[in-house]
Amino acid sequence: MTYKTQPEASHFIDGAYVEDTAGTPIKVIYPATGEVIATLHAATPAIIDRALTAAKKAQAGWAAMTGTERGRILRRAADLLRERNHDLSVLETYDTGKPYQETSVADATSGADALEYFGGIAASLTGEHIQLGENWVYTRREALGVCVGIGAWNYPTQIACWKAAPALACGNSMVFKPSETTPLCALKVAEILHEAGLPAGLYNVVQGMGEVGAALVTDRRVDKVSLTGSVPTGRKVYAAAAEGIKHVTMELGGKSPMIVFEDADIENAVSGAILGNFYSSGQVCSNGTRVFVHKAIKEKFLARLTERLGNAVIGDPMDPKTSFGPMVSERQMATVLGYIEKGEAEGARLVCGGKRIDREGFYLEPTVFADVTDGMTIAREEIFGPVMAVLDFEEEDDVMTRANDTEFGLAAGVFTRDLTRAHRVAARFEAGTCFINTYNDAPVEAPFGGSKMSGVGRENSRAAIEHYSQLKSVFVRMDDVEAPF
Ligand code: NAD
Repeated sequence: MTYKTQPEASHFIDGAYVEDTAGTPIKVIYPATGEVIATLHAATPAIIDRALTAAKKAQAGWAAMTGTERGRILRRAADLLRERNHDLSVLETYDTGKPYQETSVADATSGADALEYFGGIAASLTGEHIQLGENWVYTRREALGVCVGIGAWNYPTQIACWKAAPALACGNSMVFKPSETTPLCALKVAEILHEAGLPAGLYNVVQGMGEVGAALVTDRRVDKVSLTGSVPTGRKVYAAAAEGIKHVTMELGGKSPMIVFEDADIENAVSGAILGNFYSSGQVCSNGTRVFVHKAIKEKFLARLTERLGNAVIGDPMDPKTSFGPMVSERQMATVLGYIEKGEAEGARLVCGGKRIDREGFYLEPTVFADVTDGMTIAREEIFGPVMAVLDFEEEDDVMTRANDTEFGLAAGVFTRDLTRAHRVAARFEAGTCFINTYNDAPVEAPFGGSKMSGVGRENSRAAIEHYSQLKSVFVRMDDVEAPF
């Protein structure tokens, strides 16, 4: 292998790579071959302490800089990410197995968008002036302090940047723990931020499993925790953060509905269903995995979907022509195969796919089940793999009730040519991120996040600023102070 996948060291702390081989070894596996491409070590308590100490020490000086100065560094980092997009995309493909065709347009580029966006608004973050007769109050928008970011394995570069950009723009420091499955890319983000001029200690990366995340969340020096992960992990992290009354952002799982009405443009609806189920081999939190298709067009929809799935180019993720890659790990592949078995056992009709692909690596066929009913396991639980469940419906009211009948509330989509119906349905969806005649767009300018069990808080957009800063009110009296005695 010519590409260097073994990083200089496991952690990046206080502006430099740091190693502590006493930590549990973490083997990084290339999902397309099963080959070990790097070995890192989980953070020991000493490493965790060093990262938090550096973050605490650096934060006040950073917050004291002007927003313009902070923003300039973030925008420079965005430029560097874009300049190095090719190499970063190759690394992201090694880390996750996602095809280069995707990583070259959706990972470092999305991270760069976040750094550019929050770099751009850093200088305009202000408090307000509230006049009260002769007296007045002004508010100061202040940083929270030390933030901890914890990432999932599906979008390692994007998640690292989506958390770093608003946190740093607001004057915070961060200790980021990537998923142990994909630990490589966040280190590159740290390197680039420092190369762009970020003072040492403001963005630190420590590796490790859940225990390292848990140790970070409970540390007294930490003021805010932002997690991207599953609902069960979210519950634990939210509870631990509550113990210390810390701020939280929870970006959790989903089982999102996509409704295709009888008047929909079928070609677009099929495209939306493909994007919302098979991009990143289905490992996307906001995927529309319960596809409700009106009975009148169901067979036509399934026929066209099957035909289009036949065009998927499954193979070497580094080949730019490949459009469908492996699952991130053997474990995730086994989990998804378990769900496919349950789908068949519970009586869903397998329309296509359903099997592991006979080649090295963790490849599964794009899988579609039809005649799925609301109670089936594959319609209730998040699978996080390339498995689409197609359900029938006839009435709008009925499908709305069924679409919302889930503990999750991350995303939802509707395909219809009826303008009023589209907006009525979007208003009735119990979900944080909705789509009309499209699916899974995530521009940095728009808030992203979930309702119900899918999360708390929002990433991206101006809304993220509210989750990485706090207001201080300062009352100023111009006349005498009246006291009762
Ligand atoms: P996971 O919940 O298993 O792990 C997420 C992260 O939390 C990892 O870094 C893990 O090491 C850490 N962790 C585990 N236990 C912890 C603990 N007790 N304390 C602190 N940290 C702990 O999730 P995953 O399997 O890595 O990712 C898949 C999940 O992430 C899916 O449910 C998916 O929907 C969700 N996800 C959500 C979004 C979103 O923006 N809403 C985006 C991507 C992925």
